[in-house]
Amino acid sequence: MLFPRQSVRHPLVVRRTTVSAVRHVVPSIVRVTLEGDELAGFASLGPADHVKLFFPDPESGNLTVPDLGPEGMQRPSAGVILSRDFTPLGVHVAEGGGTTLDIDFVLHGDEGPASAWASRAEAGAHLGVAGPRGSRLAPTDLGRLLVIADETALPATRRWLGLVPASVPVTGLFDVADAGVTGYFEGADARVDAEWLLRDEGAGQLDEALRSLGPIDETTFVFLAGEATALAPLRRYLRHDLGLPAEQVAASGYWKRGVVNLDHHAPLDPTDPD
Ligand SMILES: Cc1cc2nc3c(=O)[nH]c(=O)nc-3n(C[C@H](O)[C@H](O)[C@H](O)COP(=O)(O)OP(=O)(O)OC[C@H]3O[C@@H](n4cnc5c(N)ncnc54)[C@H](O)[C@@H]3O)c2cc1C
Repeated sequence: MLFPRQSVRHPLVVRRTTVSAVRHVVPSIVRVTLEGDELAGFASLGPADHVKLFFPDPESGNLTVPDLGPEGMQRPSAGVILSRDFTPLGVHVAEGGGTTLDIDFVLHGDEGPASAWASRAEAGAHLGVAGPRGSRLAPTDLGRLLVIADETALPATRRWLGLVPASVPVTGLFDVADAGVTGYFEGADARVDAEWLLRDEGAGQLDEALRSLGPIDETTFVFLAGEATALAPLRRYLRHDLGLPAEQVAASGYWKRGVVNLDHHAPLDPTDPD
């Protein structure tokens, strides 16, 4: 079975936004709501879309965003540019026309500027948002969705739940640091047959959980995203042991242990870039 997926391009826009609300969805994930006139026209249509967020310089507190030129985004002549990739979780257009954008941040300490910023975010703070440049729509013609995700891909999982037909059964294998994360879907998980695996209970348990699902039929679409090193053997199992074709498996490294600002366009498994 092929999974045709339409791609939609969006004009590249860099927006300055202001935080209007902050709340903990679960203890380790904070939801930040952004507002601002520049959000008008913001569009995100695909489940795995991403935006580039621009953070204020932690030293000066100044927010610098790129200029837009004929070649796309350009570094301005002054100012510190700090950016990371995030999932546009929810876009809401109020009756009066104001647009807000929700982003969920995984808090993993202060060693990363995004996590450090999110752990202190308050209403009135500023953030830049660029993109998404394009959206790859969810396949519509699928019999089942299998999602394998850690905390960073729970927002994308929510997007998948909202974008595949309600009749499609969803199986989720979620690799998380603590049991507190299991409340993340806030009731939206009734349709997910979810297995929550606690990361410190041993390496390899995600692999075991995937293998214990048995054969994966040709109508099942598989989305995997999270820590790149942990996902590489799972992708290898799906593509090589089970022989699933590339268009049935979307695998993306969202971060990599020990790597700052991972380039997610790099192959998840450098030994097997296919
Ligand atoms: C397409 C896409 C969508 C994404 N969507 C989201 C999202 O919606 N929400 C979200 O929280 N993240 C998301 N991420 C992941 C996020 O971009 C990375 O986790 C990013 O590295 C965080 O930046 P930072 O400044 O906190 O850490 P960095 O400065 O990039 O890294 C500093 C250190 O922290 C480690 N690190 C980075 N992330 C984590 C983590 N989650 N847990 C433990 N250690 C970590 C790194 O390995 C490095 O050693 C997404 C990534 C991609 C590519």
